[in-house]
Amino acid sequence: MNFVAENIAEIEEKIQRAVEKSGRKREDVLLIAVSKTKPVDLIQKAVDCGLTSLGENKVQEVMEKYDHMEGVHWHLIGHLQTNKVKYIIDKVDMIHSVESLKLAQEINKRAAAQNKVMDVLVEVNVADEESKFGVKPEDVEDFIRQIAELAHIRVRGLMTVAPFVENPEENREVFCQMQQILIDIKGKNIDNIDMDVLSMGMTGDYEVAIEEGATMVRVGTGIFGQRDYGIK
Ligand SMILES: *Cc1c(COP(=O)(O)O)cnc(C)c1O
Repeated sequence: MNFVAENIAEIEEKIQRAVEKSGRKREDVLLIAVSKTKPVDLIQKAVDCGLTSLGENKVQEVMEKYDHMEGVHWHLIGHLQTNKVKYIIDKVDMIHSVESLKLAQEINKRAAAQNKVMDVLVEVNVADEESKFGVKPEDVEDFIRQIAELAHIRVRGLMTVAPFVENPEENREVFCQMQQILIDIKGKNIDNIDMDVLSMGMTGDYEVAIEEGATMVRVGTGIFGQRDYGIK
């Protein structure tokens, strides 16, 4: 077995334990393989193990890899600049990082031109970190009400990048708060939105995230190993 397959087998066991702990089923959680900086031959090893949902945080990387991978679903998980929406609108299945009206409007416009409805998540800066993108928890409902009116995007739920912590337990509160925001907004029955996706948890804390209700976890290093960004 190659190291990617070994890593995935180990992660699968941990996911299984976490879903059991939270009284859910394995199929309630999508494992997204975060393939940023990794070459297509390595990514293919994960696809061969059945991980067909791939996460990238840069438009450029989606574009470079797109033609080389078949039968996969791309998720744009990183900050997205408005002027780059046009390059990926026909390539990705979901945009996890919607956090401004301007960006939502641009996605809506480009999706309309393609005759499609783009699934999006609203990025929440739940720990209110200055360095992070995302809507503040108290502004999420208003923001969703605004973008719910755009006919060519469909709000499917929320996403967060939790703080970097040594001990994943430190993020349990953050994940719990995210699930609460999701449930609250779901209860408002806003037209044209589905609040069924909670994208949270990365290599260091996906088990805790699942225990607190994550339906998508984004795992990079845990699958493909450390990223080498080279010397810049
Ligand atoms: C890189 C990245 C991940 C994966 O991080 P790992 O710690 O390598 O699992 C998840 N989400 C986002 C938004 C990322 O940019």
